[in-house]
Amino acid sequence: MTDSSVPAAGTADRDLRSFIAGLPKAELHVHHVGSASPRIVSELAARHRDSKVPTDPEALAEYFTFTDFAHFIEVYLSVVDLIRTPEDVRLLTYEVARDLARQQVRYAELTLTPFSSTRRGIDEHAFMAAIEDARKCAEAEFGTVLRWCFDIPGEAGLRSAEETVRLATDDRIRPEGLVSFGLGGPEIGVPRPQFKPFFDQAIAAGLHSVPHSGETTGPQSVWDALEELGAERIGHGTSSAQDPALLAHLAERRIPLEVCPTSNIATRAVRTLNEHPIKEFARAGVLITINSDDPPMFGTDLNNEYAVAARLLDLDERGIADLAKNAVEASFLDPAGKARITAEIDAYTAGRLDG
Ligand SMILES: [Zn+2]
Repeated sequence: MTDSSVPAAGTADRDLRSFIAGLPKAELHVHHVGSASPRIVSELAARHRDSKVPTDPEALAEYFTFTDFAHFIEVYLSVVDLIRTPEDVRLLTYEVARDLARQQVRYAELTLTPFSSTRRGIDEHAFMAAIEDARKCAEAEFGTVLRWCFDIPGEAGLRSAEETVRLATDDRIRPEGLVSFGLGGPEIGVPRPQFKPFFDQAIAAGLHSVPHSGETTGPQSVWDALEELGAERIGHGTSSAQDPALLAHLAERRIPLEVCPTSNIATRAVRTLNEHPIKEFARAGVLITINSDDPPMFGTDLNNEYAVAARLLDLDERGIADLAKNAVEASFLDPAGKARITAEIDAYTAGRLDG
């Protein structure tokens, strides 16, 4: 889905887009199944013909045009239904890494919902083996480092939370690449505090807390994520802009927001890009990271999200490079890894601006 408020590309815009395309980046908020490109989706749909997902790319584009958040969840779950075997899981994961590498993403925390696969009968050990194999192959072949966030599908209730935290904390099952624990799905009617025991357990097992909140609900949901779920970063947090005290708190504690502008328009969480609260976040001094959420489903990619953010925040190349460095800082990469990508961003920026 594209937004008509994005202007046609002029020379300056083309220059910025070219800068962004080569910029080394980190992606912190991107979903596994939601990253399935139309090519992969059509391949999976052809493999599983009883699915209602169309196989024709044009029909797929139509299918991916959302009317509201509930419709988005419905489409999303129908793609989840296509991931039925460990080989489907491996193919999807590896191909997602390829798409990230093409955009110069050096490090990504990919959000997976293992409950969606295990409840469909995929063996949990086979699932973990498939993602780990894809992760290692992708790092060796593309140089992109992947780490995992396991998230609770909020709409599936507390049983899904129990199952997700078991998969994330049992030493015999949890994969080596797992770094964080999340909460996704619809927010309305799914209060965050009920998930506190599961986040407590995940945090005790050494995982970072990164729930979605304040995407389609008010700022109280962000407070709940911080106070009840121990959130270290906030997925979206769009409604934080309605609460100056919350913005001040996020800024003071350096709690990053994972901002996904096009997603917010596609799901109707925000009406138009020009009304996106990213400007308020910047004015309040909140650490902003730019992310793509479910890129092919929203007709976007990470590079485009950087271009959108650059326009909304009126940034030049250095400002865009700072956004990229924010994501590195906000990541759960080790200090040496952070220093390496930050240095790469600086070297690239200096080379482009001096050259
Ligand atoms: Zn998300």
